[in-house]
Amino acid sequence: MPETRHPRTAAAVAAQLPSGFTTRFAPAPTGHLHLGHLVSALWVWGLARARGGRVLLRVEDHDRGRSRAEYERSILDDLDWLGLEPDGVSTADFRAGATEQRQSDRIATYESRLRTLESTGRTYPCRCSRSEIVRAMAGREGVGAIDAASAFATAGEAAGETDASELRYPGTCRTTRVDPAESPARRVIMEPDAESVADLRLGTLTQDPASQCGDLLLRDRNGNFTYQFAVVVDDLDQDVTVVIRGEDLLPSCGRQQRLGALLGRTTPPVWVHHPLVLHPDGRKLSKSAGDTGVRELRASGSTAAEVLGLAAHASGLLTKASPLSASDVAELFA
Ligand code: GLU
Repeated sequence: MPETRHPRTAAAVAAQLPSGFTTRFAPAPTGHLHLGHLVSALWVWGLARARGGRVLLRVEDHDRGRSRAEYERSILDDLDWLGLEPDGVSTADFRAGATEQRQSDRIATYESRLRTLESTGRTYPCRCSRSEIVRAMAGREGVGAIDAASAFATAGEAAGETDASELRYPGTCRTTRVDPAESPARRVIMEPDAESVADLRLGTLTQDPASQCGDLLLRDRNGNFTYQFAVVVDDLDQDVTVVIRGEDLLPSCGRQQRLGALLGRTTPPVWVHHPLVLHPDGRKLSKSAGDTGVRELRASGSTAAEVLGLAAHASGLLTKASPLSASDVAELFA
């Protein structure tokens, strides 16, 4: 059974942070900003401003199919309107063109990091499709294909350490040896071993990437670098020392820490996973949820301070939804 956790308060998280760290706010331009993103932004900017840290803005447009330039523009406009200013590369720099903090501008870097990893012999080409993986897992575990994806949730799921919707790759192409010319997809071997992750809010967690996801996909069959690979390379290259993000990404931190070490990272990032907010009726917030979208709130006449106050209240950082200016976000962590 997963151990019961007693999350530390926002102020206790801040008190444990080293001063002068670098963190990042890393939205994917696959939709407009909503209150869920703002909760992340409040944790990121609030902790950084409380402890003399720097906030990098990173546009995570690794998903070429779903990312749109119009969403990136909308995110930049909303951040400006809210008064949440990144350090270093600014929203104006993003608008002006290519930057090392937009993932689609970093493909050559990912290629070169992948070649380095390939030279260690820890990667292999893979030609499996998702449906083949589901079928292979179903055959192995003696369950129907439809149930296969959900059959691999472990006890840690309830504690947010695994993700029931994810498939564990059974290693088919590790043993069959695929010609690299046959597919651009590459996986890295995840040896079965516990990865201990120190989260400043949730305490120390133990994850085993080999049993959660198996050998991690770095580049897919269409030649696109995956979120897992791009985010680890970026955090390493951009000297991100503290990763602050929602608890939905908790199942990924062990594998990201492992991959970072394989890429030569000597000190893992300090992790802070913040609580997620739900829609007032209990649903998970989605990008299409018009009633919690920053644009909709703006259009209905709310001020930036009112919108930030709403997000702070939704996440329990303020007891009332009173207006909060971007210059006061550090107070949420005092
Ligand atoms: N791009 C991810 C998101 O929008 C964040 C990834 C991360 O913080 O590691 O949810």
